[in-house]
Amino acid sequence: MEKILVLNSGSSTLKCQLFTMYDDYCEVIAKGLAERIGLSDSRITITFKDHPPVIRHLPLPDHEVVLKEVLDILQHTVLHDISELSAVGHRLGHGGEFFNRSVIIDEQVMQKINDTMELLPLHGAAFVHGINAITHLLPKISQVAVFDTAFHQTMPKEAYLYSLPSEQYEKHRIRRYGFHGTSHRYVSEMAADILGFNGRFISCHLGNGASVTAIRDGQSVDTSMGFTPAAGIMMGTRCGDIDPYIPLYIMKHQNKTADEVNAMMNKESGLFGASGGFSDVRDLEKRCLQGDSKAITAVDMYVYNIIKYIGAYAAVLDGIDALIFTAGIGENSSFIRKKICDRLGYLGIKLDENANHRRGERAVVSTPDSPVKVLVIPTNEEYIIARDTYDLIANRRRKKSFRVA
Ligand code: AMP
Repeated sequence: MEKILVLNSGSSTLKCQLFTMYDDYCEVIAKGLAERIGLSDSRITITFKDHPPVIRHLPLPDHEVVLKEVLDILQHTVLHDISELSAVGHRLGHGGEFFNRSVIIDEQVMQKINDTMELLPLHGAAFVHGINAITHLLPKISQVAVFDTAFHQTMPKEAYLYSLPSEQYEKHRIRRYGFHGTSHRYVSEMAADILGFNGRFISCHLGNGASVTAIRDGQSVDTSMGFTPAAGIMMGTRCGDIDPYIPLYIMKHQNKTADEVNAMMNKESGLFGASGGFSDVRDLEKRCLQGDSKAITAVDMYVYNIIKYIGAYAAVLDGIDALIFTAGIGENSSFIRKKICDRLGYLGIKLDENANHRRGERAVVSTPDSPVKVLVIPTNEEYIIARDTYDLIANRRRKKSFRVA
């Protein structure tokens, strides 16, 4: 049995989960969130499996102060001593071409991580702050890095290269990397478990950020996000694929800076931009039912974006065996799932409307005679991070029957 702390460090938030890992299953014993790091009114909230929640309001100037506080709370609740912690697993946003799997962090790895984080100018630094803080607070503990991009390192060249001059890739590393890899990996493993085979899967991670991935026999062969997580399908507030000349045109003709156009494409576009200010699908569904024409158009665009990618990936995979929905919208919105599946009858998808009303739980939502299965699988990136960390530090292979309690 090992206790593993999983960290997801953002620029102004830090999420953590404490797992107890056994040989064939694991339990989450604590879940925490630090909010408004580096801002006013910051706080830490930790909830427990067997203990009342702890909420502390205090200044949180940086990640090290946050983690010191988190470790203190854990020591006064579910751990007798911090030495009970076996390892810390970190979510890392980018592994570049260096990392096609999770790794134990040492000096060499850290150098490559620092190098790679330059590819994520907006959020890269925060991931590294989490690692540095733990190195300082718990210098002897093993740390593992789990990369959002690693799962997509199996993409073939024709899928990951852009049609730019080849030196842009060779010298400047500009290529499709893809993101949400830990989530796509988790749901495709779960789908293979449910179906009893690993085939041609299309996984739709539809959250505030969203991506679609083509998976053959457990390996990513193409994915909609690209060099950055702004590419691919339209998202909550990100624009997804647009004509590459548009940002240049706006800068030139509307006298906007690169930062302003960047903010517009990432924070003011997508469902939010198209609907006139609504990025949450629950609000959009209500507004569609009330006949709000902008909301209807935004949802139509969203569904159209997704079915176009599914059609393209069905071509890439020579047909599909299963379509998987995950993340906030994919897991919860029967409204969006139905709109997508209704356009995919030609692929052999038959949605079971009763089953589709289930939400937030693992379910097969296609009819028993549907040639292509449709699955809803709540994602669990933290579990993959805990499991990879456990496997790496214990240097042993996971038993097949491993399950989440
Ligand atoms: P995520 O980024 O995976 O946390 O997903 C967040 C998004 O999921 C929200 O912006 C909503 O659009 C969507 N969402 C969450 N809960 C529901 C729900 N019950 N019904 C429909 N959409 C939901």
